[in-house]
This record gives sequence, C-alpha cells and structure tokens, in this order.
Amino acid sequence: METPDSTVPPPHVLIFPFPVQGHMNCMLYLSEMLVYSGFHITLLLTDHNLSLLRSNNINSHPPSLPDMPRLRLMSIPDCLPADHPRNLDGWVELMDSLEKNARPLYKSLLLDLCKKDVGADGFPSVTCVIADGILPFMIDASEEVGVPAIAFRTVSASSVWIYYCIPQLIKSGEVPFRDGVDWDEPIDSVPGMESFLRRRDLPSPCRLAKNTEDKVLQLLATCTAHSERTRGLILNTSETLESISLEEIRSHMPTTYAIGPLHEMVRAYRSQDDVCANDKSVSLWHQDCTCMTWLDQQPHQSVIYVSYGSVAVMTRESLIEFWIALVNSGERFLWVVRSDLLRGEEWTNIRDSLPLEVRKGTEERGCIVSWVPQVEVLAHPAVGCFLTHSGWNSTLESIVGGVPMLCWPFAVDQQINSRLVGEVWQIGLDMKDVCDRTTIERMVRAAMNGETAGEIRKNAHELAKMVKNSVVEGGSSSENFQRLIEYIKSLCK
Ligand code: UDP
Repeated sequence: METPDSTVPPPHVLIFPFPVQGHMNCMLYLSEMLVYSGFHITLLLTDHNLSLLRSNNINSHPPSLPDMPRLRLMSIPDCLPADHPRNLDGWVELMDSLEKNARPLYKSLLLDLCKKDVGADGFPSVTCVIADGILPFMIDASEEVGVPAIAFRTVSASSVWIYYCIPQLIKSGEVPFRDGVDWDEPIDSVPGMESFLRRRDLPSPCRLAKNTEDKVLQLLATCTAHSERTRGLILNTSETLESISLEEIRSHMPTTYAIGPLHEMVRAYRSQDDVCANDKSVSLWHQDCTCMTWLDQQPHQSVIYVSYGSVAVMTRESLIEFWIALVNSGERFLWVVRSDLLRGEEWTNIRDSLPLEVRKGTEERGCIVSWVPQVEVLAHPAVGCFLTHSGWNSTLESIVGGVPMLCWPFAVDQQINSRLVGEVWQIGLDMKDVCDRTTIERMVRAAMNGETAGEIRKNAHELAKMVKNSVVEGGSSSENFQRLIEYIKSLCK
C-alpha cells in the first residue's frame, strides 16, 4: 500500500477520539490503516484511558509501539475526578470538561507538536488532525493553530443524516413529539427514509426532547452542522449498507469518505500482507477469554451472545427481566455484564437473590463474564445470534460475522441502527421499547429458531459477503480510503 515519494514528507496525523471504547476502537483501526499507508500517527487519548489500556496490556495488540514505529500514543487529562462515571451517566459532564478544561491543554500540545521539526523519536511535525466529530471545539482549536482538521463520526451514516435533519424535524413539528402521538407514525422530514422511519426509530435525543431548546438535541444538531464546515467527514460505514444516507450527506458535504467496516479492512490488510499475527483488541476492560473455551464446548449456532456495549447503564429491574427471560428461553447464552453496568450495585447481589431454578438454569446453560473479545466471539461457530444494544461498532461486527441480531437499542443512534437491521437489511429482529421477561423470552426463541430465523440467517450471510467485499481492493470502502489518503496528502502540502 505504501508508495514512498522522497520529495514530499509523509503526513503526520494527530487523531483524537472521544474517550470511550467504541470511538477509540474504530479510530485505532483507522490509525493502523494510515500507518500502513506510510503516515506517522499520534493517537491522543485521555490519561485515564491510557492508564487503563496499559494495565490491560496494550503491548499485546498489533498497534503496539514496538510493532508499529510510526504510531505513538500520547495523552491529556480529561480533567474529571478518577471516580467520575465514564459511561452514559457521566457523558455530558465528560463532553463539557473536554471543551472547557481539556481544550486549552490540547491546543498547547498541538502547538508544541507543530513547532518541533523532526523530534528525537523521528516524528515530523503534525500536518493534519482527525478529530471526533462530536468534539467540534477540538476541530476549531486545530484550525486556530493552523492545522487542517477532518471530522470522524463513529456512528452510522443514517444517524448522522437524521441529526442533519433536526432543523427540518423541528420545523415540521415532528420533533419534539406531541403529547399522545403514536410512536409508530411515519416520519416525513428525513429525505430518503420515508419508507421505513417511524417516530420510535429516531435517535433518543429526538424522542426525549421536551422542547426545541433541549440541550442534547441542540448539541447533536450543532455538532453535525459543524461537520459541514470541516475539511472532510470520515464515516465507518460502507456504500453497501447506507448508500442513500451517504448520498444525502454528500449533497451537503462532498468530501465524505465511507471507509468501513474498519475492523474488517484492517483484518483483510493484515492477513494479506501478514503484517501482524496477533488480533486482540485494545480494551479498557480486562478481557475474560475463558468464554472462548466455554464456546468451544457448545454446539454449532446454539448460543445467543448478549451484550449492551461499553457505556449503557441498566436498572436492576431490567437486568432481572433479561436474566429470567434468557434462562426461560431454554437457549444457551454468553452474557457480558460489565462491572459498571448497574448503577451503584454489583450484579452478583442480584444473582444471589434470584430463585433457585433461575440460578440452576444459568449454571447449566449460561456463561456470564465482564468483558469479551467481541470480534472473536462473533466469529465463533457456536454463536447463533447476537442480542445487542445496537451500538454502531457492535452492529458492524455482527454484520461482518454474518451473525443475525436481536436488537434492544438503548440510546442515541441505536434506535435507528436497529430499524436498519430489522426492516432495511432484514438481518435480525427489532425489540425496541419493550423490556418484559415474556416478550424477551419469545423474541430470543424467535431469533434463534423461529419461523423467519432461517431467512434472516441467509440474509445475514449474504450481507456479510457483500460488506467484506467492500473493504478489499476494488471495493467501495477500499476506494474511498485511497481517496481519503490522497485528500489528506493534498491538505498537508
Ligand atoms: N466490546 C468488546 N467486548 C465486550 C463488549 C463490547 O470488545 O465485552 C467492544 C465491541 O466490540 C465494540 C465496542 O466495545 O467495538 C462497543 O462499541 P459500540 O459502538 O457497539 O457501543 P457503545 O459501547 O459505544 O455503546
């Protein structure tokens, strides 16, 4: 992939993800791909996350420093107390703190990295920034220092397109919802989605806003409108999945690059050139790999894998409904219950209070762990379905694995992602807005062995093939990536 040209110094890109697992994962994959293209990369994390990565063995991952001399990690503080919840409960404070407190630190670091010509570590000065699109102030700060900045939105193109349309949704009176409105009513003000978009499929800030001034609604509309003023927009998606939304976005923002799924592009590139053997992901949690041994002992496609991602926080009532439903479904299950999934309570307390037959069913058919190597789990032949919160990374990972989904969207973009899965691609079932044991049990059975399960599994396999083709040579994501490389080079001249 590298095409060295001795007359032009290779770009040095500073990449700054919003400091949560899903955003970091895809920006790390992008960093790796850019290193393979001859770029120098500084990946900027928060002190908090860098210390978590170090304690979870970052050096075992391919982008570790000895393996990739042109990739280095740096960090700045997020300026929050160590015990601040860095999940959905503390999300808005994290954004506020980055804007108010970390922005000046970021700016002075960037100035420093620009001043320095070739440093002791051989890194030239920074020539371009790729910043998380939900941190528009970091993009402004970069341009103030004189470094061109590109936005990377780590969510689906469809959700970005809906955020673009927030002003029209407000103007048409579709958002905020009127009292008593039927959530199954169609939405008309998002061009390209008229045939399938209902009120309940709108991202949660649209569903929750009580008035047009709602803080989170305005924040998302502002971030998205801001992307139009940046030099470019990167999306971790594929034309195969979201061509209509991409076309709409490009009518506002022509320099939009759909280069996903990045985890698969990296995998395809690594195996092609045998660059790295080890395929562990970089985790903020310690991975419990005992689940892989457990999976090895289960029959083909017999396990439902259950995870709500890295930031969702659940009530004890919801957790109990899921638990009883999973046991009563009679299916085998691998369940990720993060240490901070419940607010202020250990999940083991709940286990001890459950009826004996539920605990027995869990021991017989279940495996509960705190964090798994998810991409590997989804590639395991024992996994027959993914009960997911429909985070965008999880959705892409399931698509690539050809694993049908049972969607229980939780917040933000997940509501639209699950609609794409259930209605547009037809590779799963959408269980949004219910959380009772009877419905969950019925849906788990339906997703694993119901009337439509065979058809859905076939669709999932076909989509996996098409999406994988998009990241290899000649595929749309691969071509978009090549265009992005050339574009970054042109900005760095
Ligand atoms: N993940 C993982 N192990 C787990 C659960 C999640 O590695 O046990 C990873 C998953 O592979 C994905 C990310 O965490 O890349 C979650 O991102 P997503 O966008 O799906 O959801 P979010 O956490 O942002 O809500």
